[in-house]
Amino acid sequence: MKKVAVIGSGTMGNGIAHVFAQNGFPVSLVDISEEALQKALTTISKNLDRIITKGNLSEEQKQQTLNNITTHTTIQDGVKDADLVVEAATENVDLKLKIFRDLDSFTKPEAILASNTSSISITKIASATSRPGKVIGMHFMNPVPVMKLVEVIRGYSTTDEVTQQVMELSKQLGKIPAEANDYPGFVANRILMPMINEAIYSLYEGVAGVEEIDTIMKLGMAHPMGPLQLADFIGLDVCLSILNVLHDGFGNPKYAPCPLLVNMVQAGHKGVKSGQGFYSWTHGTKELVVADRFKK
Ligand code: NAD
Repeated sequence: MKKVAVIGSGTMGNGIAHVFAQNGFPVSLVDISEEALQKALTTISKNLDRIITKGNLSEEQKQQTLNNITTHTTIQDGVKDADLVVEAATENVDLKLKIFRDLDSFTKPEAILASNTSSISITKIASATSRPGKVIGMHFMNPVPVMKLVEVIRGYSTTDEVTQQVMELSKQLGKIPAEANDYPGFVANRILMPMINEAIYSLYEGVAGVEEIDTIMKLGMAHPMGPLQLADFIGLDVCLSILNVLHDGFGNPKYAPCPLLVNMVQAGHKGVKSGQGFYSWTHGTKELVVADRFKK
């Protein structure tokens, strides 16, 4: 595989483009928004500076990495030479189906089409194309340049050969891939989201306050942060939508989102991105906001 296209240049797309470019792949980064593309280039440049400061990259390698990235505002222009496309556009099923229909039309027939979706069925996405054997999930973790894991998701029709190629490619990026089959939430979110939901239920039922829940899980389980803080980072709207995918997909009440999570999202409290979630986030600092109201 030589040329890579990344669709969507937001939080994940810029990280994915960065990692491929730093590992020598020519990357065409596609977004419908020119502003998002410019912001992505600025973010990549800043993140490369951080790696230089740690002594792990030279100024010349930074320039080479940036030179490996071209930007485009249409899929048609961005993907025509690509051997691999990684789609990291907004998490919306109709949008992804449309993008994959376009990718199927505008890429070479042998190109592999991957999605970074957190929760949408790879098999469903593949059904929008004429090459379901070449459609696969490449689920990077945030922040992409830092996190080692790539969850590689095999759709119902994904071939062994394509899975093997994507596993090898992930290793070339310095990542550690792990394979999963295509069922709701795959592995990462199927296990993470019920834990977060249970933490929210513990708060809702007055078992403990925000800080207590986060402290117990952080120190007791050696997690880098507590589940409520992590939920604020992921976005409470994103957590809710993934729990809905699990609930709908399995039809099992154990995945039903906690009513407190539903209320908070409806109130616009989405975590770090909106400034308020379980904590209040301003200028990189956090303060508790819901602890008192829900404390026993
Ligand atoms: P984001 O909102 O930061 O970025 C999405 C980008 O997609 C935006 O820049 C938007 O302009 C662009 N876009 C929308 N429609 C497009 C189109 N038709 N063509 C090209 N670009 C288009 O979203 P994100 O957080 O980067 O998430 C992207 C994907 O990665 C989602 O599927 C999400 O589930 C998944 N994901 C996110 C995280 C995370 O922590 N944020 C982690 C793992 C996976």
